[in-house]
Amino acid sequence: MLELLWLLLPVAAASGWFAARRNTDGVRAGPGRKDLSSDYFRGLNYLLNEQPDKAIEVFIRMVEIDSETVETHLALGNLFRRRGEVDRAIRIHQNLIARPTLSREQRTQALLELGEDYMRAGLFDRAENLLLELIELGAHKARALQHLVDIYQQEQDWDKAITTCRRLEETTGHSMHHVIAQYYCELADRADHDGEPGQATQMIKRALSFDRNCVRASIMLGEREAKSQDFKSAIRAYKRVGEQDIEFLPEIIEPLHECYRLIGNTGAMQTYLHDIIRRYHGTSPMLALAEQIREQDGERAAAEFVTDQLRKRPSVRGLNWLIDLSLRHSTGEAKDNLLILHDLTSKLLEGRPVYECRKCGFAGKALHWQCPSCKAWNSVKPIQGVAGE
Ligand SMILES: [Zn+2]
Repeated sequence: MLELLWLLLPVAAASGWFAARRNTDGVRAGPGRKDLSSDYFRGLNYLLNEQPDKAIEVFIRMVEIDSETVETHLALGNLFRRRGEVDRAIRIHQNLIARPTLSREQRTQALLELGEDYMRAGLFDRAENLLLELIELGAHKARALQHLVDIYQQEQDWDKAITTCRRLEETTGHSMHHVIAQYYCELADRADHDGEPGQATQMIKRALSFDRNCVRASIMLGEREAKSQDFKSAIRAYKRVGEQDIEFLPEIIEPLHECYRLIGNTGAMQTYLHDIIRRYHGTSPMLALAEQIREQDGERAAAEFVTDQLRKRPSVRGLNWLIDLSLRHSTGEAKDNLLILHDLTSKLLEGRPVYECRKCGFAGKALHWQCPSCKAWNSVKPIQGVAGE
């Protein structure tokens, strides 16, 4: 809505709204332009009060009375698009662009609006052409490039997304390296899918060259190396995740353990787990270690270890594990009570989301590198806390 108000402010300024305010400060008002009807400000007020329907009514009436006011058309078109009436928005903006009397600024603004209409309507080819034209004209460049990135992302045209991101970086001065790394990961995924492992590895390495903290690239590299039986390299890649973003640690515990098992060195895994639980407060590595202790030193030692850990990191999963273990040795009433407890902890865990987007709160059971809801990259992570990790 704010964006729309900015669109309308030039008219407000020219029509004396600001001039009148400046006058009260004792500054001379600029040369007056024909006053806009008070309807215009009523429309603005409706927008400010988040009443777009009433604003539309007012603007439609204005357009009927004075069809020359470009800004009113722009505002109206924008409102129609927001309301989902894309066809009407497109008609308004197309009519505007056809006017020979538009200033350069008005024309490029109308082009941008029409491009956004096309995007909203899913007409990506048309939107792309308009946005490229704007970039060529040097107008609204950052916004046009951002829209193009969104289009290429939706079309999964990762090569074009990368090139456009680079241009956007040049224009805004803001690094988009972490997003570019994700695009390379997408390319790696595709190469892997097409049976081109060499190409996949190359794309993963490129991802890491853009963002050396790209967890996804490290996990993919680990999988690639393990697949080609190079377990030592796979271990290196998986362990890197712990350095890059420790919150993703639960993702690599299992595959890492498997690699150590395959090279016959589970002792090293144990050392790693001992080291990592000092820095990581989630449950996954603690339970992995508990399993190892159980295999090596028996159930009693494992239960003692978990009980001790649960004091430091209370968690439903840990408790569930402990109850599971205790159930095997209990009988009679004690067993019945434990079963009730086990049922309860299982229900608490059941159906709970495991991952959550740190930007928009979207939660689910699968790990997405791009949030399905807000489309941010790298924002979905394992849920922490008593009922989570
Ligand atoms: Zn999100």
